[in-house]
Amino acid sequence: MSAAWVKYAACRRPGIDPELFFPVSESGPAARQVAAAKAICARCPAAADCRAWALRAGEPAGIWGGTTPTERQLLRRARREGTGAGERAAS
Ligand code: SF4
Repeated sequence: MSAAWVKYAACRRPGIDPELFFPVSESGPAARQVAAAKAICARCPAAADCRAWALRAGEPAGIWGGTTPTERQLLRRARREGTGAGERAAS
């Protein structure tokens, strides 16, 4: 990926394990991993661009822009249907 926002990505900083952003699921024991990744995304200056990219690309896995795959699915559905339900699910 060569988008300009990538150079501001908090997940690319030294000491951040990229695997943190790819939990095996969104619930159960993986929920703590999801929360840890989202906490980094919440402080990332590239979060809005990252989330927009993941939504456009239909990224099927991982935490991108503070959203899980399920949340992105809800966002895409809400946008198709013209509701704000997906935005609330991702916040
Ligand atoms: S929002 Fe999260 S996944 Fe996206 S670049 Fe920032 S830290 Fe990485």
